[in-house]
Amino acid sequence: MGLCIPNYIYLPRDFVYILFMLFKPVVPVRRLPLRILLSLLLVFGLTGMVEAKKVSSKTSTPAKELFGHMKVPAQMKPQPIGSYAKGCLAGAERLPANGSSWQAMRLSRNRYWGHPELIAFIEKFARTVTEKDNWPGLLVGDLSQPRGGPMMGDHASHQIGMDVDIWLNPMPNKRLSKRERENISAVSTIKNRREINPKVWTTGHAKILRRAALDKQVARIFINPAIKKEMCKWSKQQKDRSWLRKLRPWYGHHYHFHVRLKCPKGASSCKNQNPPPPGTGCGKELAYWLSDKPYRRTPPKPGEKIKKKRPIRLADLPKRCVAVLNDPGEIKQAAVKR
Ligand SMILES: [Zn+2]
Repeated sequence: MGLCIPNYIYLPRDFVYILFMLFKPVVPVRRLPLRILLSLLLVFGLTGMVEAKKVSSKTSTPAKELFGHMKVPAQMKPQPIGSYAKGCLAGAERLPANGSSWQAMRLSRNRYWGHPELIAFIEKFARTVTEKDNWPGLLVGDLSQPRGGPMMGDHASHQIGMDVDIWLNPMPNKRLSKRERENISAVSTIKNRREINPKVWTTGHAKILRRAALDKQVARIFINPAIKKEMCKWSKQQKDRSWLRKLRPWYGHHYHFHVRLKCPKGASSCKNQNPPPPGTGCGKELAYWLSDKPYRRTPPKPGEKIKKKRPIRLADLPKRCVAVLNDPGEIKQAAVKR
């Protein structure tokens, strides 16, 4: 029986590491004759040069595990493939950790990858809110993984490099260290699920949300129902309130707002979501979100089986995602680094 190495294990580094861990308890490395150690490194170094086995669309491994282990993008023409919650991303671009008016957070998650249009949007939006809305700058949370796709925990969407989470906390007036970017906690902007926290919420928040919603590239923005309520109230005297339509109440989203861009022009593999329903959404829809209904869970009837949701598999995603996953981008990139 041959040794089967799934291609999401990074060769040769991870493999040598695994080997090291296996030997460690038996023979301390320092006492291993140098020759044996060197030959082991050579053998497994060479194994790493042989391209890892391709993943087939038939694999039963959940897609989030396959995509979650990818460290660098597929070196292909940038393209979002599929829909926001069922797709992947070719040719992703990295959001730099620092810009003129933003800082990327939680860098260890490696979710700072997006379609070049999303990266350009973040740069433009950060600059505009700083210049026109007197906002101190943006703290940017998750975009997508290097090849998009489903994630291990947290998000159902963010799969095609067109979604970004932007913190509702303004950027501090200093360059944050790597550690600070991991550890600083966001402050909630709501008091409870019906009211914002007036000690945290400012007109600045309202202005940047409106600015994002007015942008033609933006398809929708997810925010907490209490924030939507505040936005409806704040904009009451304004002539144009059509932008309110794009502010979609959703669970959570009081530490950050989630901006979703429309598919780039000509991106034939990208599937847009239906536009939000007409109107401001400040009437019935908001009333529903402020009621208990969205939070009510109907208990299962006696004898009723609770269906466990099967995780998304590679075969559930557009066919082209198999090629995105199997692109040797990471191996090329690793070779360049050495
Ligand atoms: Zn999000």
